[in-house]
Amino acid sequence: MPLEQNGRTRVEYIVSSGRSGSTLVGSVLGLADDHVFVGELRLVWQEGLVQNTPCGCGKPFLECPFWRDVFREAFGGFEQARKIAPKSLLGEIGRFSVKMKELGKVLAFPAPGSVVPDELRTLSRLYAAVSKVSGARTVVDSSKSIRYAAMLNATPGLKLRVTNLVRNPGGILMSRSRQSKQRDGSEKTWKVEQRRVKATKAIAKWMARNLLASRLLRRKGGVRLMYEDFVRDQTWYLTTVLGQEAASGVLSQLRNGVNEGMVQHQISGNWVREMKIRPDERWRAELPVLPKIIAGVLSFPMMQVYRSKLYVRP
Ligand SMILES: [Zn+2]
Repeated sequence: MPLEQNGRTRVEYIVSSGRSGSTLVGSVLGLADDHVFVGELRLVWQEGLVQNTPCGCGKPFLECPFWRDVFREAFGGFEQARKIAPKSLLGEIGRFSVKMKELGKVLAFPAPGSVVPDELRTLSRLYAAVSKVSGARTVVDSSKSIRYAAMLNATPGLKLRVTNLVRNPGGILMSRSRQSKQRDGSEKTWKVEQRRVKATKAIAKWMARNLLASRLLRRKGGVRLMYEDFVRDQTWYLTTVLGQEAASGVLSQLRNGVNEGMVQHQISGNWVREMKIRPDERWRAELPVLPKIIAGVLSFPMMQVYRSKLYVRP
């Protein structure tokens, strides 16, 4: 059965800053029975439906059989979805006032079912269809955004659970300063003259998002996961989220090696072709001194709290 007994689709949702390893964590959860990892589902409208960016399986979005089936199940097809999707989901509304209104919703954090605008009805159909087409009860979504988490929390038919993934900001800066391959084949990296401004912005975003995530965890419960702990040993996190039995299944797949042909129909994020998890502490040696000090000083108080206080859902 794709749905829970009470008819709700479970969503395992990852909140984090960019380059925190959310695609890796999501892909690992997606190995569990009854789980399907779909990447950053909030971007399925813009990157998929509008821009036809390649899916994680390698096919252009509109040619991917998985997404074709999902959109047919939810809306009758891609064309119909384009016609009925609220403009905000398609990315046509990005004005400051609208964003502020959205942020108001986040802070109010409405209970499920208390708000039912078009957006939420559309999302409800989408997630139910992902669950039905994949046959998985839990949809693993690495959308990262807090604002979107609040929307999902208010979406009828969904049961949201949250992982706040926190990576040491030194590692994020290192990852951002490296070139990364985009799905359209282009390379993305910071220009030298922009680096200081961008690094400061990245750390400010890291602080803001993780502070808001603490609020979300206090309200909803959930898990805070340190990325550095996860890449060293996945046992605690997987057991906490999946339970003993499912976690051992995933751990043994990781030990035996997940093959290169693994297909996950993920939206956005890095390509995951084979799953090799290794600690990445290179930034400690390679990140230039100034950003390393700035990242260390700014994040020190929050990292201390995180080290002493991991939230675990009831
Ligand atoms: Zn695909």
